[in-house]
Amino acid sequence: MAKPFPLEPVESPSILTPYRRIRGLLPSKETREQLDRLRAAESRSMQGQPPVIWDRAQGVNVYDVHGNMWLDFSSGVLVANAGHGHPQIAAAIVEQASKPLLTTYCFPNVPRIRLTQKLVSLAPPKLNKVLLLSTGSETTECALKLMRTHGRRIGGDDKNVIVAFLDSFHGRTLGAQQMGGVLGGRDWIKHRDPDIIHVPFPDGFRNEDTSFQLFERSLADAGVEPDNVAGVITETYQGAGPYFMPNEYAQALRKWCGAHAALLCFDEVQAGFGRCGALWGFELYDVVPDLFCLGKGLSSSLPISAVIGRDDVMDLYGPNEMTSTHSANPICCAAALASIEVIEQEHLAQNAATLGSALREELQAVRDQFSEVIGFAPSQGLVGGLLIVKRGSKEPNYDLAWNVVRCCFHKGLLLFAPVGVGGGCIKIAPPLCIDEAALREGCTVIKDAFQELLRGD
Ligand code: PMP
Repeated sequence: MAKPFPLEPVESPSILTPYRRIRGLLPSKETREQLDRLRAAESRSMQGQPPVIWDRAQGVNVYDVHGNMWLDFSSGVLVANAGHGHPQIAAAIVEQASKPLLTTYCFPNVPRIRLTQKLVSLAPPKLNKVLLLSTGSETTECALKLMRTHGRRIGGDDKNVIVAFLDSFHGRTLGAQQMGGVLGGRDWIKHRDPDIIHVPFPDGFRNEDTSFQLFERSLADAGVEPDNVAGVITETYQGAGPYFMPNEYAQALRKWCGAHAALLCFDEVQAGFGRCGALWGFELYDVVPDLFCLGKGLSSSLPISAVIGRDDVMDLYGPNEMTSTHSANPICCAAALASIEVIEQEHLAQNAATLGSALREELQAVRDQFSEVIGFAPSQGLVGGLLIVKRGSKEPNYDLAWNVVRCCFHKGLLLFAPVGVGGGCIKIAPPLCIDEAALREGCTVIKDAFQELLRGD
């Protein structure tokens, strides 16, 4: 089980750079008192991040009330693609809220009309309908429902199988977690869905066989008849890497789905809105799915998510049969429209593509220097990871990864707690508005943390 970050104050070294400002105790006495109160009143599951109470966040920085300033390599959790607290997004939220129009349920509102048009205009031409929801998990649950409904309509009751990937993550609700391939987290589900099966993800690190034959062989081993597959869902990249599939694999998968009338769904909840250096991550594979899921970076702020897909699939349900109370909340839609505008106006997908080579170079340098404990350092655009392993193996080393995150926190670099199977992945995901100097400075902090922690080893 992941551990909470301790609240005992530590005297941090004073740091003052254009991107980081840290002085005094972390956490301060007052912060500690507030966090103690929070921990007493709130589920333990929320205690997993370093002990800073965010007071404000702007651009690539997060501030507490004591004047400390962190360089943020988390973007929340890959949410703030347009940068934290962007004035255009904040203004759109304020303007919509002060109309006032705070909620409309499924009654239409103007921001919803504009956002659905905008998303359709940005999606590949055949994916011409949108459903707005609130969370990433809601979108993957919705994709599950659509893939199965479509499968059973065209192929009868047997066309019900969903193929997902080992070690994938699609959210924590019942269907989403069963599609997820992190097997350990599913102990609470007694009656597992026998028609959701998992095949190895072709990441090239944990699974060295990246051939598409492995997909077909895995289905055969599981006794699955290809024509009974209703849909295949995959994260565009597996988050706790980030692990991408080879292009040839993605293209073979696309062909296979077409040949067996199975829907292909990319879960772009993390990968969308410029993160990988293109607006949609799946563009990198040069394939078009039948459905894709969006969340996080859609608004860079308020909770809103979307499923986009072919109209014959998106229209499977009639009026009021596939909705959610907070679908298309007008303030969330206004925030999303403003965020997309910022991403376009400031060429943030392009910035991610351009800075992608600097990030790759920096992470490779860290890996080369500490190759005994860093097994792999993949990155694409402005998402990267360091896979921390026990010396000379591929076994995740959660303790070292956690200590690196903690050490960086005290040096003014904010990372979220390690993720992935075994908790060995340190994820790097700054807001897409970062500049090269800040990116390189953050990577130097990570290097310094390894140096400090491994000193004397
Ligand atoms: N899919 C992916 C790929 C994700 O990364 C996440 C969240 N980390 C989800 C789905 C679930 O999103 P949410 O937490 O908004 O429900």
